[in-house]
Amino acid sequence: MSVDTMKNNEPFLNTRIRTALYGLAVCDALGAPLEFQPRQHDRPKYVRDMLPNANFDLPAGHFTDDASMALCLAHSLVTSNGKHNAFDQAIRYVRWLDEGYMSSVADSAFDVGTQTRQALQYWRQSASAETLNFVGRKFDEDWRCGNGSLMRVLPCALVAKTEQEAVVLAKESSRVTHPHTRCVDACGLYTRLAWHALQGANKEQLIGEMQKHVESLEVELRKRLQQYDSIEAFDSKPRKQISSSGYVIDSLEAALWAFFATETFEAGAIEVVNLGDDADTVGAIYGGLAGAFYGKVECIPERWLRDMKSFELVVEAAQHLIDLHTRV
Ligand SMILES: [Mg+2]
Repeated sequence: MSVDTMKNNEPFLNTRIRTALYGLAVCDALGAPLEFQPRQHDRPKYVRDMLPNANFDLPAGHFTDDASMALCLAHSLVTSNGKHNAFDQAIRYVRWLDEGYMSSVADSAFDVGTQTRQALQYWRQSASAETLNFVGRKFDEDWRCGNGSLMRVLPCALVAKTEQEAVVLAKESSRVTHPHTRCVDACGLYTRLAWHALQGANKEQLIGEMQKHVESLEVELRKRLQQYDSIEAFDSKPRKQISSSGYVIDSLEAALWAFFATETFEAGAIEVVNLGDDADTVGAIYGGLAGAFYGKVECIPERWLRDMKSFELVVEAAQHLIDLHTRV
């Protein structure tokens, strides 16, 4: 879809941008009480409402690191006129870690991923090209393929004018903390799908986009995603074969499975967070894509929005993202 088409669709695009960011934060908060929990197999017992988060002793409705880091990235992209700035991104992530910038809890970051914390320690010492290179070498290992960059990458789709721009922004943003090609490519693919969803692509078209680019993906990511060449392939995948671990491929697969195998924002959100384990993060990854796709704030259950805490941070960032499209 061309830039001209996007301009003609601005009101439509604005609503989709807003719903995508809201969706990410809401599903993060919905899944947060289920983080670290074993999977619930009894469907009537599925969590369907915002619950208090016993992991961090918080009332219902608090979004966690996933949405906080996505908000940091959103503000960085807006401040940089939609361009990538690794140093600005890193400085905002360090502010989140040290001061609770963009946290749903005043002055305090929580639910911090191990690799993210480690990488930010180097960034805290020096926001420089040397640090970017150092992180790029030190964390480029097979066992360092967590979902920490995928969970926050959505704003790259929300600012990009073209598919190609979205993918490049996403890959660059991953390298700030998660430079392994598997993480970088997962971010690129997810952002490609979210960008097309924002333009109004249907689910068959999104699967077509995924398969069109699957051969170029990192080998383990490619092997996992090649099997999904139709909605039927997602529908027929048994739930017990879907992991919701923090491994980037598992998290992406869980989010895509919940998205393609259900037909409403709410149904997919309930399905994905009740996988347990890294429930808030698979929720956030799902929620960003599903929000972009279903595209209207009303698709998110009102009872979930009503329970959100510090939601003004999400509303404000969404407005800045929308304003950027009219500004540049
Ligand atoms: Mg989290």
